[in-house]
Amino acid sequence: MIIESKPFITPSEVIEYLYCPRYIYFMNTLDISQHEKRRSLVQKGRDIHELKLVRNKDYLRKKLNCVEKQADAYLTSEKLMLVGRVDEVLLHADGTMAPLDYKFAFWEGTLYKTLYIQQVLYALLIEENYQKEVNRAYLVYVRSNNHVEEITISQKAKDKAKLIVQEIFDIISINYYPAPTKSKRKCEDCTYRNICNS
Ligand code: SF4
Repeated sequence: MIIESKPFITPSEVIEYLYCPRYIYFMNTLDISQHEKRRSLVQKGRDIHELKLVRNKDYLRKKLNCVEKQADAYLTSEKLMLVGRVDEVLLHADGTMAPLDYKFAFWEGTLYKTLYIQQVLYALLIEENYQKEVNRAYLVYVRSNNHVEEITISQKAKDKAKLIVQEIFDIISINYYPAPTKSKRKCEDCTYRNICNS
């Protein structure tokens, strides 16, 4: 994404990078978009309607000891060159803040690494924009009766997320061809399979 001619990274791009570092090379360096992108945008549009319905459930925030919230927070970080939209930013009674993200999925008892990193990036965006500590995040699984999963955000996780963002900028700025994913299974239905020599 380009803002005022500067490249910014989104949490979605970080997730693509974690799936396979070469995605970033093809998407940004060679400027080849994935066919799936459009499909996910359509899906997002559909989710927004559902989001409006579930968001009115104030009991969720009361349960989380939240005293204030901002919905649809569009946040940028000049330090990290990161930009993202958080479903809700919550202020707790103890003065800390937390991102809350709605997932239109069932809670299956496993928190995927990509989702975790996404929340850590939101935490970094909130800390820079609001100057408040963020040490947890919430995921609401709408299809499991709004199951709320609380996630601890440690300093170590924040440092790791910053390193990942830096690695992505290295690919974009130095223009180097990163190593392929170690999981060959991912290559089977990859959009870039025909041009990637993995
Ligand atoms: S073919 Fe495999 S290594 Fe190449 S971009 Fe796709 S997932 Fe990554």
